[in-house]
Amino acid sequence: MAPDVDGWRIVLTGGAGFLGSHLADRLLDGGASVVCFDNFLTGDRRNIAHLDGHERFHLVHQDVTTYLDVGGEVDAVLHFASPASPIDYLKLPIQTLKVGSLGTHNALGLARAKQARFMLASTSEVYGDPQVHPQPESYWGHVNPIGPRGVYDEAKRFAESLAFAYHRTHGMEIRVARIFNTYGPRMRMDDGRAVPTFIRQALAGEPMTVHGDGAQTRSLCYVDDLIDGFMALLTSEATGPINLGSSFEVTVTELAEAIREACGSSSPVEFAPRPEDDPQVRRPDTSLAQSTLGWQAQVGLEDGLARTVGWYRQRAGR
Ligand code: NAD
Repeated sequence: MAPDVDGWRIVLTGGAGFLGSHLADRLLDGGASVVCFDNFLTGDRRNIAHLDGHERFHLVHQDVTTYLDVGGEVDAVLHFASPASPIDYLKLPIQTLKVGSLGTHNALGLARAKQARFMLASTSEVYGDPQVHPQPESYWGHVNPIGPRGVYDEAKRFAESLAFAYHRTHGMEIRVARIFNTYGPRMRMDDGRAVPTFIRQALAGEPMTVHGDGAQTRSLCYVDDLIDGFMALLTSEATGPINLGSSFEVTVTELAEAIREACGSSSPVEFAPRPEDDPQVRRPDTSLAQSTLGWQAQVGLEDGLARTVGWYRQRAGR
């Protein structure tokens, strides 16, 4: 049975982004009302253009690092605002730290004032370059706090810590999702993440740039699966943190080849230097999500890539 959010009023920060916009769609489909806060720092107006005029969708153009308030009752506050791709957070280090700290504080404050449930979009990056593989929620991580990626990793670690402090101090209901790499329609073509970059290069017939020797691994979850996981977590009794991601692991070279195939392209693979602190391996241990939420990713890589490439082709008008 689909999780029930019918009649809920939900505040969603970052609702114009890749994940936020898909989540907004699902919440609206389930009968909820959504108040979306976004300043379009890394999001795209087109992601929510189809919701213009929707009677249960309301957009507030605001930076959530400033005071956050809405009139009326609220059942849940979902904090998804944050630059999320390495290109974005390396270019926006201070904004990333601010939205993870001040933004989380404001979102928690709003949830507390409204006696609402709070859900945080955290990340597998809290595990850093992991020395335990696959990563269970009990692993504390291996993060370089002063490295360039530390701005994102530490912002999310602080955000989790703050959410738990509110939970312990004020008895607030919180839900913490640790999201692993996710892909699908609405990722920005230029966001620098592997999937859109390889698709752009393959469709243009340009060389596909693999960093390092391409033996580093990623486990990629299709967006619809992840949204199922958010819905299950939001409506469950579990506090988390809970890993949400696919346990199907591929090397980056294998990923490039799968995307080349999905695009019907003959682009060559080219190797480039690895970014600093780039994790060598990444795969969630999802046993907790399976046992507490009955959730696991369903969409295979081939199927998910076909749907994603189809969407990019359509957007590019090919
Ligand atoms: P995204 O960049 O597409 O979306 C983030 C949204 O937040 C954007 O619309 C952006 O404009 C908005 N935003 C950023 N700072 C803001 C601010 N100060 N005030 C208001 N709005 C602001 O990224 P995404 O991939 O959709 O990621 C969404 C959330 O999920 C992020 O918190 C991210 O850390 C987390 N996450 C994503 C992934 C993934 O694979 N996509 C993995 C792990 C965690």
